[in-house]
Amino acid sequence: MDSATGRVQVWARVRPPIEQDHGPSTAVECCESTKMVRVRNDAEAVERILNGQAELSSASPEPKEFAFDGVFGEQSAQRDVFMQIGLPVLREALRGINGTVLAYGQTGSGKTHSLLHQSAKGEEAGLLPRLVASLFLMISQDVANVYDIEAAAVQVYNEQVDDLLNSEHQSGIGHNLNVRDGGVVNGLTWIRCTKPDEMLEAFTRARANVVYAETKMNKASSRSHAIFQLRISKRERVFEASKTGQKVECTIARLNVVDLAGSERVKKSGSEGMRFQEATNINRSLLAFGNVVSALAARKSHVPLRDSKLTRILDGSIGGNCRTALLVCVNGSLEHVGETQNTLEFASRAMRVEVDAKVNTALVEVSAKTLLADLNPEAH
Ligand code: ADP
Ligand code: MG
Repeated sequence: MDSATGRVQVWARVRPPIEQDHGPSTAVECCESTKMVRVRNDAEAVERILNGQAELSSASPEPKEFAFDGVFGEQSAQRDVFMQIGLPVLREALRGINGTVLAYGQTGSGKTHSLLHQSAKGEEAGLLPRLVASLFLMISQDVANVYDIEAAAVQVYNEQVDDLLNSEHQSGIGHNLNVRDGGVVNGLTWIRCTKPDEMLEAFTRARANVVYAETKMNKASSRSHAIFQLRISKRERVFEASKTGQKVECTIARLNVVDLAGSERVKKSGSEGMRFQEATNINRSLLAFGNVVSALAARKSHVPLRDSKLTRILDGSIGGNCRTALLVCVNGSLEHVGETQNTLEFASRAMRVEVDAKVNTALVEVSAKTLLADLNPEAH
């Protein structure tokens, strides 16, 4: 099969209560076996409970129900998130199909934890470190093919595109890069990686350059959109010595892991001044992202990809020639029930976006020296 048609796949994850939460965590209920999420739909009762004027009743009389491709409850394991979302996208990327995994949700709902968390005790590691480890394990077991793996990372912050792997990032070099149609960022640093540790080190360095700011809702809230990119090229291993270079067919896949900034409304995070400016721009990019998803879901002829930097970078990665997986993260706390409803409505809409992903191939000139190294795989 040379293509993967279908639609954007959508999962919802409810994070467990944490110390910073205020009020009871009873806004959502999720059932992993039926893949359904129920959210309270009784705004007035919730308001009275939060004001201490009413008792906390066990459930909303008429909860809103949403069905997804999968749901992860409060007790869900990081491993399961990777197995259901990351692994299928990675498998497809190894045969040349582009993939994108996006995390969407309000600040503090568990996006960064789900995607990027690194831990000494492996079981808490997020989707990206697991994806990197699995990628190198899988290619090491494939003796019939030779792979070229590269990594890049960008952030969209205040409608500016920054190269997170440019070592001169702090001095302003690698800032405000241009984005071409098709989501290609001009002048972006790509690092060739031959071991998982090289790639993990690059992504850790990239994360250290992501802009964080303190808001009322989450101390380490990311105010920027962070996009981690992998480029995976594959060609057949040549098993006979060759004195000349050759043109060989490669499959080339681009894989994006996107940690979006918080989707909450500005007034809730108590943003002022500089932070307000950031929140406004975040809303511009997220608003544009929402509009793109709505336009694609409604099969509109015009899709406003050019309205923000984020959507320009994601050109071709939401729907189109890409296998797109969306993880929406929600916080079960009663005080955020409105945001949770918005997030789940958005997720439902995203399920209507069609994708038509194809195996991407290219003819690439490979030198005699490189082909010779094929006979000695250890040397790669
Ligand atoms: P976001 O990136 O959406 O702003 P974070 O991923 O930073 O949110 O999560 C907010 C807080 O909740 C962090 O302290 C994180 O460790 C914790 N957290 C999030 N998801 C989980 C989870 N599934 N299990 C345990 N703690 C979690
Ligand atoms: Mg975050």
